[in-house]
Amino acid sequence: MPGTIKWMLAVLLLGGVLGLTGFAHGAQGPDRTVNTWINLIEQAKFLALPTGFLKEIDPDFVTVTFEDLRTYAAEYHPEDHRMILNLRLSFNRAGGALMDLDRMTHHDVSLLYHELLHAYLDYLFNGPGPEALSPRANRVLAFAREQMRCHYRFVRINPIRQRRDMTEIRFLSEEDAWEVLNETWAVFIGWQIWTKLEQQVNGIGPWTEPLIDAWVSLLSRANTSGELLGYYEPDDPEERRVARKRFIAPSNGLTPEGAELLLAVVLEEPDAVVDKGGLVIKATNDTAVQALSCD
Ligand SMILES: [Zn+2]
Repeated sequence: MPGTIKWMLAVLLLGGVLGLTGFAHGAQGPDRTVNTWINLIEQAKFLALPTGFLKEIDPDFVTVTFEDLRTYAAEYHPEDHRMILNLRLSFNRAGGALMDLDRMTHHDVSLLYHELLHAYLDYLFNGPGPEALSPRANRVLAFAREQMRCHYRFVRINPIRQRRDMTEIRFLSEEDAWEVLNETWAVFIGWQIWTKLEQQVNGIGPWTEPLIDAWVSLLSRANTSGELLGYYEPDDPEERRVARKRFIAPSNGLTPEGAELLLAVVLEEPDAVVDKGGLVIKATNDTAVQALSCD
């Protein structure tokens, strides 16, 4: 997808590029990226983190670099399929390879998954095309396109982030709608990974009724507090002059169907959690304002 350098957790690039390698420690040669991606998947699997969506991505598709990001922790640049991670996520802070996942904080693992979701969506939309994707990935792609047609395209925004009752209406470009979907979904993935790691012993589970109940309260709170809302950096230069970042109002936040799909396909949660997740988002979504009609 064309576009400027955008939708990232960061824009300030302070410091230079210290590494242009993938994830494997010291691997060399043409197989390096393949090995490194496999290494990431193996580590994630060992820690009982979701890996199915990572296996979908061709290891050559994404380039990972480490930079001394002072203000922000990570960025993803779809225009050249590049993931930039903070140096602290690299092995020995040397910028050469990813540090072991089990040495990362829960916050950093969730941050990594936020970026990995961007890579996944980039691959679905800008990779080899639907014929080369699995039925599951095609399901995600079709649903994402449907949500971009209306829900994330004709939207309410909060001109002041903290004033969620104050809204304005925008009809977004396709690129901006893609960005809103991307951020909304990545924020949810990051939230769920972090929450599960914090809530269950090392995120392994298994889910019990009390754990699901506690998770339901956390998810309700996150959805009503605005924590799960997406944003975009406007393509329109006029709009960009007013605000570099626009925050989506609750009426155009994560949908119950979106939450269910992400919990099932990306996060590989059991049916009971998937169903509860959809119900919680539905029950806590903002119904005070009428949905905007796309026709
Ligand atoms: Zn993001």
